[in-house]
Amino acid sequence: MIAHARRPDWRTALLDTIYRLPADYVPPRLVSTSRTGIQAGFEVRREVIRDLRALAAASRAADAGIAVWSSYRSYGEQAGAFDLWVRTGGYRDALRKSARPGHSEHQLGTAIDFRSADALKAPWDYADWGKTKPGRWMGENAWRYGFILSYPQGASAETCYGYEPWHYRYVGRELAAEIQASGSTLRRYLWEHFASVELDDPQPEP
Ligand SMILES: [Zn+2]
Repeated sequence: MIAHARRPDWRTALLDTIYRLPADYVPPRLVSTSRTGIQAGFEVRREVIRDLRALAAASRAADAGIAVWSSYRSYGEQAGAFDLWVRTGGYRDALRKSARPGHSEHQLGTAIDFRSADALKAPWDYADWGKTKPGRWMGENAWRYGFILSYPQGASAETCYGYEPWHYRYVGRELAAEIQASGSTLRRYLWEHFASVELDDPQPEP
């Protein structure tokens, strides 16, 4: 497994089943989502706030309001989340549905799992959240606000994970527009343009 340098670039750091963040990596400048007009109780990198606020307002204006289900998760919290998936469905199933600790985009402080604003229900408890009004609106518009869907449908061979219509990663409007125009998945795009430039020596998995 390959660990990124201590200070990975939050925009371009590639995280998948191979690349991971150091266990002690905590993003600088974590702030509460209460500043976005969505809801309090979650943290993201400060760089995300302005566009998250704009995204939330635009979704409400389109009558497709979104809210946050989950955002920043520490290495330890991700370890707990992964263990829970292992206990409920087994290790192989967990690998498809969740990232092992260090491999999650949530540890960057820029990934958000969204839900519908009008129902306090996990997005994975829908047949396909991507087909709900908020999910569809996000699929069409999130990139305009700098958010890219990390794990689109039918792309698991390339993204390492199953379809997650709720999981978006913020990369800034400029890079998001480039990725959207390329038609590529986030992982492939980062791999082709930015991989291997900021890596520590390979370290054994803990
Ligand atoms: Zn997620």
